[in-house]
Amino acid sequence: MTKPAPKDWILGISPYVPGKSAADDGRPLVKLSANENPLGTGDAARAALAAATADLATYPDPGAARLREAIAAAHGLDPARVIYGTGSDELLHIAASAYAGPGDEILYVRYGFSVYDIAARRVGATPVVAPDADYATDVDALLAAVTEKTKVVFLANPNNPTGTMTSREEIARLHAGLRPDILFVLDQAYAEYLDGQEDDGGLELAKNASNVFVTRTFSKIYGLAAERIGWGYASVDVIDVLHRIRAPFNVTTAGQAAAVAAVQDTAWIEASRAHNRQWREWLAGEVASLSNHGLRAVPSKANFLLILFDGKLTAEAAMKGLWDEGFATRWLPGQGLPNGLRITIGTEDQVRKVAAKLRAMAEAA
Ligand code: PMP
Repeated sequence: MTKPAPKDWILGISPYVPGKSAADDGRPLVKLSANENPLGTGDAARAALAAATADLATYPDPGAARLREAIAAAHGLDPARVIYGTGSDELLHIAASAYAGPGDEILYVRYGFSVYDIAARRVGATPVVAPDADYATDVDALLAAVTEKTKVVFLANPNNPTGTMTSREEIARLHAGLRPDILFVLDQAYAEYLDGQEDDGGLELAKNASNVFVTRTFSKIYGLAAERIGWGYASVDVIDVLHRIRAPFNVTTAGQAAAVAAVQDTAWIEASRAHNRQWREWLAGEVASLSNHGLRAVPSKANFLLILFDGKLTAEAAMKGLWDEGFATRWLPGQGLPNGLRITIGTEDQVRKVAAKLRAMAEAA
């Protein structure tokens, strides 16, 4: 019998695997598998969201004017050049759809964010993966992988799942080495976790260059993952193109209101950043002390650590052992890291329990 035939490249897509919140037997777990804010959501954002649910019958502001203005004011940007998406995921997808298609190449690094592969295949483009340098981005390898078919380059900075950071100088060098007709998508989902001096200069580049699209999210430090709001910044021309294909009414009324409050809540942002830095460095130190058992943490500037298990204790066994302590983490065999476990930095109590369990398992292995 005939049936609707999907495009053959669609069948080449492996669906996105979300972070687990339960063990294989269904036990609910504390979710350290999706890089959410362990402190939750700030009071100001929560209150704004609650107030905005009074009118549910009316469509949201399609132009998200207050949200664009609040983002622009917080970052010194032109509100007309801020675009918003149903999560930054939507923005990554529309960037790929607008600039690439069958016969084109979309380039990113090995151990890059898994949505890049889906975004490339979804539009029929060919995903091209450049080798890493000890899990970090290798700008020379990326530049060497550019061909005349390259239309889009995706780079997350800090990167997920590695947490590694590409410096401002290296980002500038990468941009300078890309042809101006290639769209450089700099995905800054974790940028709010950086100290000011660690900034990679992406927004400054996007202000001045015609081919840079920076994306950000409210899902991480702002604690609004449930509301699905991302934003991006680029030239007037790129923003005009992207608006043509974003979904209408793609950010909800309550989400817009909460995000406006969240972007202004600097106390919440700073507290979350300080918490993350303190406990990420503490956990990295604990892992370093287990190096004689084959454990190593990749240097991270994000709100998670990628831990590599190259001794008797395997990443899979560590993941299952952490289930027994009540924690979901992210094992990454599907991303070429069967020896890697990505652990979101939780509350102090959670981080201490995770470290103690890792130590007990490594020493008993
Ligand atoms: N980029 C990176 C690097 C991410 O890790 C994530 C979330 N896991 C996203 C983009 C998408 O986030 P959201 O759609 O929630 O904005």
